[in-house]
Amino acid sequence: MPLKIDDKVQFLKGVGPSRAELFQRLGVQTVRDLLYLFPRDYQERGEVTQISKLNLEDSTSKQTVIGECMSVQIRQWRHLEAAFADETGSIKVVWFNAKYLKDKLRVGSRYRLCGRVVLYRRYIQMQHPEFREVMDEGSTAGPELPPVIATYPSTEGLQSRSIVTVVRAALDQCLDQVPELIRRADLVRLNMPSARAAIQELHRPRSMQAVGRARRRMVFEEFLLMELAVTLRRRSFKRRQDAPVIEVSERVDRHIRRRFPFGLTAAQNRAVADIVSDLAKQSPMARLLQGDVGSGKTVVALYGVLAAVAAKCQAAIMTPTEILTEQHFNSIKTYLVDSKVRWQLLTGSIKPAERARALRRIERGEVDIVIGTHALIQQDVTFNRLGFVVVDEQHKFGVLQRAESRWRNAAHEPLRPHYLVMTATPIPRTLALTVFGDLDISVIDELPPGRQPIATHWVRAREVTRMYEAVRAELKQGRQAYVVCPLVEESANLDLKSATEECQRLQADVYPEFKVDLLHGRMSAEEKQQVMQRFRSGETQVLVSTIVIEVGIDVANATIMIIEHAERFGLAQLHQLRGRIGRGSHESVCYLVANPTNEFAGKRIEIMTRTNDGFRIAEEDLRLRGPGEFFGTRQHGLPELRIGSLIDDYDLLQLARQEATEIVRSDPELSQPEHTAIARALVERYGRTMELIEVG
Ligand code: ADP
Ligand code: MG
Repeated sequence: MPLKIDDKVQFLKGVGPSRAELFQRLGVQTVRDLLYLFPRDYQERGEVTQISKLNLEDSTSKQTVIGECMSVQIRQWRHLEAAFADETGSIKVVWFNAKYLKDKLRVGSRYRLCGRVVLYRRYIQMQHPEFREVMDEGSTAGPELPPVIATYPSTEGLQSRSIVTVVRAALDQCLDQVPELIRRADLVRLNMPSARAAIQELHRPRSMQAVGRARRRMVFEEFLLMELAVTLRRRSFKRRQDAPVIEVSERVDRHIRRRFPFGLTAAQNRAVADIVSDLAKQSPMARLLQGDVGSGKTVVALYGVLAAVAAKCQAAIMTPTEILTEQHFNSIKTYLVDSKVRWQLLTGSIKPAERARALRRIERGEVDIVIGTHALIQQDVTFNRLGFVVVDEQHKFGVLQRAESRWRNAAHEPLRPHYLVMTATPIPRTLALTVFGDLDISVIDELPPGRQPIATHWVRAREVTRMYEAVRAELKQGRQAYVVCPLVEESANLDLKSATEECQRLQADVYPEFKVDLLHGRMSAEEKQQVMQRFRSGETQVLVSTIVIEVGIDVANATIMIIEHAERFGLAQLHQLRGRIGRGSHESVCYLVANPTNEFAGKRIEIMTRTNDGFRIAEEDLRLRGPGEFFGTRQHGLPELRIGSLIDDYDLLQLARQEATEIVRSDPELSQPEHTAIARALVERYGRTMELIEVG
């Protein structure tokens, strides 16, 4: 029986059950998956260069050397570091996160290495090279190499070379079953090869030029599907006409603004105008409010909340943590003193009886604003007439879907609310427009007046004492300091222990004359609140904490932040943390204590010392680490991309967005025969969220 593209890879020659399991680790179950498992790199067979002749000016193209392996070591973070030498010199070679390669290298053997070369701390360093053992002069182990060599993402026990063989079998048997998603006329117009030709070229490369063309084609296809998903979701959401029409009269506007002890910044006013115009429509608002830490998003959100309340709707503010709930609650309280607005706080610490009473009042419409964590609001709250929802600190793909499916209005109430999603995680502009394209976007790109810039210093271990002295001088002036300890993923107990020890050490050995306190994730909400209260009131001067202070804390007198092991944090996270200081009238300083062991980590710390612009940091972070890491692996909710890069292929992302918009405009249900294949691929890729289209 001929092999089908959706058959399991086991049916291919050379793949038994154990191999199949290894393939599964690479996300490959079926022959189709295998055909779409694209090589992660290509190299032209290069001339061998002597080590002394390596071109150190050029860190982008690959260079090839042959050298004897002198040493192999596993370094921090599973990095593998080896030294190689030929008659002319030696180089260091690093493979990040590739401990498993250790057994492939034998000290004393000779290898052909092909990779990019950089000068790092006066050492010539080759990063992530491909390598083969050299048996005798000139020839390498294994079969003769083609002009362009494809390297697959390998895994322990399954090397690139074995993948080549299996893919070849898959191509021979199933390439002609690969569906063509793009119309012939469009292929001609876009000057792109067919899917089959492109897939063939990617797996059996003939020249780098042809690979480039093929790759563009498959990246485009991948982006097109993603953009179609986003566009269809947005369309179905926007088409609904069941949101309350909320008109903001001049009078209401005046009343709301009177609540704030300051005038809004121009950027805040622009965001408010966006919201006001959305609220006046019957189709629900789906807007992302983006702004750096401290840019004044809460105030803008509160404007929307009050506009909804003025129109006799209820509003909910959902936060990711209880601390943030408290924080919002506290600031909202100050803005609403002496107003008739009724609010209700829903936290984990309110008593059951009180909670039951609160829920009844919410259902009867006796509460205007409900503030709580996502979990608490969504669990068992029935609203009377919920018209406006603020989702705070979310930056996930498809957040609307999730938020939407969960809340309830009373049975008699046909309306569904408007949504405002707030995020302080600066999403690079480039991504926001495309990947998060199901939301409209307002950006607050200006800080309120009077903010102090934050000076950021990189502190090496040997400079710590000096730093403590500098901080002491500030504490003596009456300022306060945060000391942030990173979480060590493996064990919450260890984290707690290290933070506790740090707290004790600082108290006993470093700052005996001040009060040092501890805040960590495992405290009860009540304990946390007490710690925060002591810090806010100035009773304690130094607050040691795990990253629970990441969001929401606002103590203007705290002007110093020390971040321990800064190299373990993501840049976006560091930026968030740093945003906790610089809020008062005194100058603020952030110390990043870090001893990075490689160039990459060092670069990241350096970026932090150079700029305070969250967007720039986010873009750099994304560039350095890739979107998965940037958004926190798997947490980001970004679709997994097989081949495209959201940064490097940005032009194709834009092109795909245009094409997707055009397709949806001409055939919103993708019901025309020419779109059958693409509709099917969409459902395959994005599953249930695609119930918006019919698939025959
Ligand atoms: P974000 O939520 O974006 O981090 P917040 O809304 O919490 O920022 O505002 C941070 C601080 O700035 C708050 O103390 C708030 O009172 C203050 N603030 C907000 N907008 C303004 C403004 N237009 N002028 C002066 N201060 C402002
Ligand atoms: Mg805030």
